[in-house]
Amino acid sequence: MMPVLRKEVLRLIVFTLLGAWLGWYWDKPGWGAAMVLCLLLVQHIWQLLRLARWLQHPHEVPPEAQRLWGEVFDGIYHYQRRQKADQLQLTTLIDRIQDSSQALRDGVVMIDDKGDLEWWNQAAEKMLGLSSRSDRGQPITHLLRNPRFVDYYERQQYQDPLVLSSHLTEDRLLEYQITLFGKNERLLLVRDCTKMQRLERMRQDFVANVSHELRTPLTVLAGYLEAFTDHAQDLPHHWQRGLTLMTEQSARMQHLVTELLTLSRLETSDFKAEAVPIDVTELVTTIRQEALLLADNQHHIILDIDEHLYIHGCVNELRSAFSNLLFNAVKYTPAGSIVTVRWYRDDSGAYLEVQDNGPGIDHKHLRFLTQRFYRVDEGRSSQTGGTGLGLAIVKHVMLRHQGHLEISSQEQQGSCFRCCFPLNHVLVPQS
Ligand code: ADP
Repeated sequence: MMPVLRKEVLRLIVFTLLGAWLGWYWDKPGWGAAMVLCLLLVQHIWQLLRLARWLQHPHEVPPEAQRLWGEVFDGIYHYQRRQKADQLQLTTLIDRIQDSSQALRDGVVMIDDKGDLEWWNQAAEKMLGLSSRSDRGQPITHLLRNPRFVDYYERQQYQDPLVLSSHLTEDRLLEYQITLFGKNERLLLVRDCTKMQRLERMRQDFVANVSHELRTPLTVLAGYLEAFTDHAQDLPHHWQRGLTLMTEQSARMQHLVTELLTLSRLETSDFKAEAVPIDVTELVTTIRQEALLLADNQHHIILDIDEHLYIHGCVNELRSAFSNLLFNAVKYTPAGSIVTVRWYRDDSGAYLEVQDNGPGIDHKHLRFLTQRFYRVDEGRSSQTGGTGLGLAIVKHVMLRHQGHLEISSQEQQGSCFRCCFPLNHVLVPQS
């Protein structure tokens, strides 16, 4: 028991005994004790009333009291002071956070769990045209009504940002990135990416234009080289090796230009206009024949395919993606290797998988494989005529089909490249 409490109980017992002793003079010890207890009760009620009055005016100093009540008043007083100090610290911190968010050049918008606007900084006010008086508490989707934003907001898959033209000025591009926090609350970050997009477009146009301009001279060169090769016996002997090298290199350059043009097309063309139902079985069977030819029939290519499964997509793009995977599987594995192509579906989507039992790829390279011009082994890749663009093309094709590419590999065990398509692209024809 606490010492004050012990003292208080002792006091109660002593006073009750004293009351009983006084009452004993009049032959009524019980009444004497009861009278003392009543007096003590009145005293406690009085202190309780003082406490209640003080709690109604907590800014005043606490009432003077002794013993147990003194401890109670002091305890509450110290607790209040601590609370006040903590509150002040918290308010200062919130003010600082708000001030620093206000200073940000990117827009920051806090959205509550009901999807209503709660707070935003000045940059967001300018970029989104928000007004602090009328818009607070409004649903965000009433203010940003673009169907693509509404879809992005409702789908709750916020790994990637969304880029849209501003609803205030068409030529301004805004990047929206939502992050979930707390209890289903959201933080919306808005960035003006007009300049970045313009630069990206310039890069795309530059690559597309250069590749396009190189195509004609390269075709002319390749044509003449072919003509020279046809008459190689008429040329001096020491020219013949040079001719072979020139023919090889011009073929390589033509391949590079074609792949660069494919990548630019993937980045700029309209996907929806080109999408049709595709018989994947037919497509993969044709690519298998081409891969066998490429490998001089030295590989075993096994097909494990669901023939009833079609996909809604762009046939040229998928041909390019699947052939890149299958050609890589024969290019980067030794003769006699087994390549298995699977085409199947489950509850989450459909999958085209190309698996080989070749040398595999060291784990450290895996995350860079889809970057442009990335090659694991420069020497081996140029021997096989690789450009380092194949897997970048596959990645882009998959993104355009709302899917993604998964790569798994283990050295000396082989590699597996899996194209994952979402269910909304899968078609199963009615028989
Ligand atoms: P490339 O045009 O050079 O083939 P890719 O982008 O298609 O470029 O491939 C990138 C690199 O990934 C290749 O250089 C190769 O080293 C490696 N690679 C791709 N597929 C396989 C595979 N099936 N087995 C082993 N390595 C592979």
